[in-house]
Amino acid sequence: MPDWNLDPELREILVCPACHGPLEDREEGLACPACHVLYPVIEDVPLMIREEALPWPPPA
Ligand SMILES: [Zn+2]
Repeated sequence: MPDWNLDPELREILVCPACHGPLEDREEGLACPACHVLYPVIEDVPLMIREEALPWPPPA
């Protein structure tokens, strides 16, 4: 389970800002499987900026 919380209505409208595809809930934030990036959620605020996204899955 993710350790963050988003307003369900906000979560519903969130898509990847790069490809507008659906996002997966991950412990660290919201992952886009198509772009292989993760948008961190910091203090329950999603950082939906492509330049700030992390590699997903994380490098080994
Ligand atoms: Zn994407």
